[in-house]
Order: sequence, then structure tokens, then C-alpha cells
Amino acid sequence: MSRFLSKNYEKLVPYTPGEQVNEKVIKLNTNESPFPPSPKVKEVLSEAVIDKLNLYSDPELKELRKAIAEQFDVTPDMVFCGNGSDDVLAFAIMGFCGNGGKLCCPEISYGFYPVYADIFGVELEQIPLKDDFSIDINDYIGKGKNIVIANPNAPTGLALSFEDVEKIVSSNPDNIVIMDEAYMAFCGESCMELVKKYGNLLVTRTFSKSHSLAGLRVGFGIASKEIIDDLNKLKYSFNPYNLNTLSIKAAAAAIADNEYYDDKIAQIVKNREYTVTELKKLGFKCTDSKANFVFVSTDKISAAALAAELRKKGILIRYFNKAKIDNYLRITIGSIEEMQTLVAAIKEITEA
Ligand SMILES: *Cc1c(COP(=O)(O)O)cnc(C)c1O
Repeated sequence: MSRFLSKNYEKLVPYTPGEQVNEKVIKLNTNESPFPPSPKVKEVLSEAVIDKLNLYSDPELKELRKAIAEQFDVTPDMVFCGNGSDDVLAFAIMGFCGNGGKLCCPEISYGFYPVYADIFGVELEQIPLKDDFSIDINDYIGKGKNIVIANPNAPTGLALSFEDVEKIVSSNPDNIVIMDEAYMAFCGESCMELVKKYGNLLVTRTFSKSHSLAGLRVGFGIASKEIIDDLNKLKYSFNPYNLNTLSIKAAAAAIADNEYYDDKIAQIVKNREYTVTELKKLGFKCTDSKANFVFVSTDKISAAALAAELRKKGILIRYFNKAKIDNYLRITIGSIEEMQTLVAAIKEITEA
């Protein structure tokens, strides 16, 4: 630490991203898609677009917001885009909870929520999950605080029903409820249509997982026009050009290509069912994941040791050295070949 860092940030504990590597490995540690993005993405990233990079990107993101609005049957003024959904979450937590506001989230959930709470001076309550890792919605009914929940939750993969989400949203009318639907494409029940009914709901999504574009950094939030106006006010006070021209074009092309992505998502869901079935045969416990990862444990070997052994075999998965989940592993669902290799490697390690 230098002598110059503001006192406010001395104690900050940053988010730890999963490892990115150059070696050739089977990479099942950061919930990326094993598939390349839609071919339409390549088509729109033409030389003509590159030649125009001398100009600033469109701060209003008109093309992209329109394409997203069409997909979700809302108006473009209900769409806010960010440099990854992390950017959207950051603006929302800063804007609606910052400087002493109150926020609650599940104790075991996306690791970025506590970091944002910390950096923006938010009073955060982390609410324990039930023993089976599910969320007890009674903990959030009429809570009287802002709420952020990942649905499906990470790293458990467990999802809340549409009805339960509506109960949470409707019982907290004077607070913002952020539903982080980063993994919703993989078969949960989205609450997106509720943004038209409830002015306190913000739903966030990302191109990183379901749309094979983690490296592009695009995410978005959908909410009432008033909430989106607030987010834009913050954005224009901080970083008006938060998306670059290439990202805007590429993401707009991707979101319109349902045919391509529906097929890829269906394959991932199928590979997830395969992986759960095979791991259960090997005696693993698996949560009922609705995401593009599974959350598993075994009595045969500690999670830390299994992750280390798999690494030696060139397979990366995610181990969290954190109370209550330190005997669990989060394994991203890759291609069927990758999952077959994983299952064979786990079999070899656990039956040795
Ligand atoms: C991956 C992830 C995000 C952020 O993704 P971006 O790449 O920033 O769009 C947000 N929430 C959860 C729960 C995630 O797992």
C-alpha cells in the first residue's frame, strides 16, 4: 500500500476472480460458456466499425437498449447497460444503498455483494441460508431494507420460484429489490415480467454466461423508467461511455440471435443433467442446480484436495475456502467431452 491511498479504502477486501490461464486446460472454474459467441457477432465487428473507433461510443446505447427491450417486451427507457452486470450492480448498490443505506443478501451468494457494500459505505446484513442451502423467503418478507438476491443463487445453483420472488418484491414496496438473474437462462423462473407491475424491482442479466461473451463485458438491468433514470444519472456522473462501440454492436447482434443461443443453452442444460447423474453414481451430493454449474461434495476426499488433484490433471474447478461451503466444489458445465473427461478424472481420483 502506498502512503497515498485514502483511509476509506485501507481495509477494503477486493473480490477474488476465478483464475484465468494461458495453458491448455479444461476450464470449469468461472462459469463461462464452452461455445463461441453467435456467428452474427463476428459479422457485425466489421472493418467499417473499427474505422469509426476515432469517435466516442454512443453514451445512450440506443442500438443495444432497443435490441434488449425487444427481447423482454419492455421499452428501451426501462433498460440500463453496464460494462458487465457487475457494473450495473455497482451503480445500483451505490445509488440506492450507498452512504449509510441498508442492504441485505444471502450469506452464501455472489462474492461481489459484500465488496460493493464495503466500498460504497452500505450497511450490509448477510442472512444465513437454510441447512440445505436454500433461501428461506420468510427472511425477506417485509424486510424494510434493500435486497439483492442472485436467482439462481451462486454458488449453490438453487432457484427461487416466481411466486416467492413476487412475495419478496411486493412486501418491500419502499425498498429496492435487485434480482441478479446472471444464470436465469439455464432454466429458472424469471421474474422479469414483474418489472412492469412493481416500481421497486431491478432485474439484472449478463451476456457473460448464457451468451458466450464474458470477454466482451456487457450486462444490463431492467426496471421502471424512474429507476433507470436514476442509474443513468449516476452513470453520467461517473463514466458516460461505460460501453465501447465494439461491445454495443456485438451485444446487440448476440441478443437477437435466439436460434443460436437457445440451442447452446439446451446443450448446457443437457450436459448438466449428465454431470449430475454421473457424479451421483460416484456417491456425490449435488444441489438441484438451475445454473450452468453444479455444486457438489463427496465424503471420499476433501473438496480442497479434489480440486488440487483435478488441477494436476489439467482441469480447473472452483473451490471456496469459506465457512459452510469449504467441502463443496462449484464445477462449470462445459462441452459434453469436457464433462466426460471430468467424470473420468474424478472417478480415477476418488476410486484410487
Ligand atoms: C458472473 C456473475 C455476475 C457478473 O457477471 P458480469 O460478467 O460482470 O456480467 C453477476 N452476478 C452473478 C451471480 C454472477 O455469477
